[in-house]
Amino acid sequence: MPVEVMESPRYIRGFGVLNQLGDAAKEYGTRALVVAGERAFSAVQGKVEASLAAAGLDYRVVIYKGFCSMVHIKKALIQAGDFAADLVIGIGGGTVIDASKKIAHDLGLPIITVPTIAATCAAWTPLSVMYDECGAVTAEEWLSRSPKAVIADTEVIMKAPVRYLVAGIGDSIAKWFEPSFVRQALDVKADCFLRSTLDLAKTAYEILSDNGEKAVEQCKANKAGPELDAVIDVCIAVTGMLSGMAGDAARFAVAHAFYNAFSALPLSHALLHGEVVTLGILLQESLRNGDGGVADKELISFYSRMGLPTSWKGAGLRKLTEDELDLVVSRMEAGDSLTALRKLPLGVDLSARRLKEAIAGMYHMHHQ
Ligand SMILES: [Zn+2]
Repeated sequence: MPVEVMESPRYIRGFGVLNQLGDAAKEYGTRALVVAGERAFSAVQGKVEASLAAAGLDYRVVIYKGFCSMVHIKKALIQAGDFAADLVIGIGGGTVIDASKKIAHDLGLPIITVPTIAATCAAWTPLSVMYDECGAVTAEEWLSRSPKAVIADTEVIMKAPVRYLVAGIGDSIAKWFEPSFVRQALDVKADCFLRSTLDLAKTAYEILSDNGEKAVEQCKANKAGPELDAVIDVCIAVTGMLSGMAGDAARFAVAHAFYNAFSALPLSHALLHGEVVTLGILLQESLRNGDGGVADKELISFYSRMGLPTSWKGAGLRKLTEDELDLVVSRMEAGDSLTALRKLPLGVDLSARRLKEAIAGMYHMHHQ
């Protein structure tokens, strides 16, 4: 089977590394269109502008608002006006970085990303998740080029609310639990990248398990340490590598299929991507066990230690109506993941009726 592996970005992570942005940027251009989230930019504006100016770059800043959708991307391009950029710099969380990658891709320009939180692997992965104006996922658009560089400043990420770091831990562990669900049904013997992905995903989970609690404490106390660095590396870089390497196996993703479907419900927007993904992992475990959702004790203890929601109620969600359940199930059924999963000999009931029952049942899950 033919394979294609995307190039990896240059990854610069450490306390205060944002001052290297200008030097990294001038390798790729002289006129930077800076696409930034409002809160993110207010946190880093001084350092970003000083670094770009010191490196002799011209730049124009566009504050990005709203979901990653074509309507908002067009508004950002209008703000950019006649500025003839030869480089894009995306600064913020997953939404803004996905939008800035899409802008760079459509303009045919290189991009450098500056994640100000570690809540997803968006800064690394050549993928933009596209939404409609109501915040429902419409497409996962793989881009032909990866970001040239990722500048992950530990100080900036540490100062952001800890909830983002916790959500990033939740998003990253899906890279282990999603392929684990289908592993027995796949012939992996001669699949170099899938085997390598599985091993790396397991190691990444172990790194998070060993360092996550300390990293969360360090983020809360505003006191960086090696554990926080390790967790940032997993959430941004290793998870990004895994997304790029999993290839076809990336389609077999219950937790992300649930996220994409669930995004159509406005109540989901109170949660972060990684928080919904961790509920999706609980859903997957409940489908696998065929019961009322008693997930693996070790998994629940991991969630509790990290501060991830261990139940639907714990995530602050109300019970879904019949119509909402039907909408989520029909959106899951329309996606590639469920279609691919249903073709595998998993011995797991993935019928619409069972999915609906399992999602509804999550409300009654009780985990201490
Ligand atoms: Zn994700």
